[in-house]
Amino acid sequence: MSNEAHPVALVTGGSRGIGAAIVRTLITEGWDVLFTYRSDVAAAQALTEHHSAAQLASRCAAVSCDVSVEADVLAAFARCDALYGRIDALVNNAGVVDRKIRVDELTVARIERMFAVNVTGTMICAREAVRRMSTIHGGQGGAIVNISSAASRIGSPGEYVDYAAAKGAVDTFTVGLALEVVAEGIRVNGVRPGVIDTEIHASGGQPDRAARVAKLIPMQRPGTAQEVANMVAFLCSPKASYMTGAIIDVSGGR
Ligand code: NAP
Repeated sequence: MSNEAHPVALVTGGSRGIGAAIVRTLITEGWDVLFTYRSDVAAAQALTEHHSAAQLASRCAAVSCDVSVEADVLAAFARCDALYGRIDALVNNAGVVDRKIRVDELTVARIERMFAVNVTGTMICAREAVRRMSTIHGGQGGAIVNISSAASRIGSPGEYVDYAAAKGAVDTFTVGLALEVVAEGIRVNGVRPGVIDTEIHASGGQPDRAARVAKLIPMQRPGTAQEVANMVAFLCSPKASYMTGAIIDVSGGR
């Protein structure tokens, strides 16, 4: 069971990029963390080893989970229950893009994957968190942070409109869920990163994307994963106690 002094967070897609920065920030701020990864075992191990080496009082563990597979999500939350016996924050960070294409080239398989990971995964994880956090289910409340994208505002024409639309669904889900559980002790907020320098761009076939689009960003540079993590950790914390249904841009003015 978790030490009462340490709140517990579950972070999806915590092995790399923005998720790994969120995990590092939360454990530094005294949270016990369980993070999920899909396939990159080495990256997940590197993060848990980094935590062990830092000799922090908080705990950190990893579990393999494809957020688009309901059984994996149920198993991840069961692991959180067994390890820590509670959950105070969920960060829905796991997400995917795909290769740059136009809408007239889209396949159903690609659209289904885009929505399965970015939208269905976010919703299933939120469902499991609400079942544990809501006061109507005997919980003690908590915080949910959904990672969206500035793409939901911009639409990403000629690049990945399907991804942008999926993140638009995440924004709407954030607002609706926030109001649904506002009287049950749960705060739900969203963070919309702009262009952040992570491996996600290489996974979409554009490894140089962050540097290439820097001139389109008012701050003239991509953001760092840490700059997103700072906002997420704030929204998870009691410092954000009067915030729910907010969607915060961390996008250098874009
Ligand atoms: P990233 O570097 O590609 O890392 C993605 C993370 O998600 C990894 O931990 C990966 O696990 C995990 N993941 C991928 N598919 C998954 C699945 N089906 N189930 C569970 N985990 C899965 O991405 P990132 O740039 O940090 O992005 C994190 C979030 O920020 C995403 O929601 C993304 O849409 C959003 N975002 C990013 C940017 C940007 O410019 N980077 C901008 C706006 C929004 P493995 O390591 O095992 O593959």
